[in-house]
Parts: sequence; C-alpha cells; structure tokens
Amino acid sequence: MAGDPGEEYVEQACAHCGTVNRFPRRRAKDDPKCGRCGEKVFPRRPVEATDATWRAEVEECPLPVLVDFWAPWCGPCKVVGPILEQIAAERAGQLKVVKVNVDENPRTAALYRVQSIPTLVLLRGPLKLDQIVGALPKAAIEARLDRFV
Ligand SMILES: [Zn+2]
Repeated sequence: MAGDPGEEYVEQACAHCGTVNRFPRRRAKDDPKCGRCGEKVFPRRPVEATDATWRAEVEECPLPVLVDFWAPWCGPCKVVGPILEQIAAERAGQLKVVKVNVDENPRTAALYRVQSIPTLVLLRGPLKLDQIVGALPKAAIEARLDRFV
C-alpha cells in the first residue's frame, strides 16, 4: 500500500460521521467517500465555522471555500442564505460553503476586513480569490464562482 512518496495527503473530517479521512490532495476533486460510514466526506450543505475552527474548516480544506459572513439580524443575509444552501448542494464536492456569524467571530471578520454584511469571500486555502459584498442574485454569484471553481 506504499503510495508515491512525493504524494501530498490531506486529512478531512467526514461531514456525516466526523471520522478523519486521509487521502491524496489530488483526489479531493473526486468527491471522496468516508472510509467508515461510506457517505461523502465533503458536506452537501453550508457548515458553520468559528474563530476557533476557521483554520481546520477553511484554510486546510483542499477544495475552494465560499464563506458567508452574516448575522441573524441582517435582512439581506436572509436572502443570501437559501441561495447558498442551493449552491452548496449543487456544487458539493467541488466547493465547500461555510457560514461565519460576525457577531460571534469578530476575529475572523476583522482579519478579512468585513465592513458590511453579507460579505461572501471565496478562498483557496488562506488565499482570497474573490469577494462579493451585498446580496446578489444567484446567477450573479454563480457567474463570479465560475471564474474560479
Ligand atoms: Zn463518515
């Protein structure tokens, strides 16, 4: 079972059962299944991240990650929320959608200079690819994503 010694591996907690799966980085795009429960490792719906879990949920994810900086009191955020549910399902295995509550996670919001919400930030690892401020229609969000994902 010795793999290519130059192969880079990533570890990802299964979205279904939490078991940490280890697989070659290049296999991430194949939407791998969990070795324990058989479900897909990557989530089919938006997942919450916090200041504490940001690194594991976002920076260490081998897929591009679309982060929704939002808050419960924000009207336009309620418009974007269901759109992101759809995008997370439709692009599962190619894109991970993460939600960050800016009131509860001021450190991450400040790090990405979130001035108003909703702000969507598309990342690959720690690298910012694009940023969308304000509630855009689904087609407009997808057009921006299509440039990178
Ligand atoms: Zn699992």
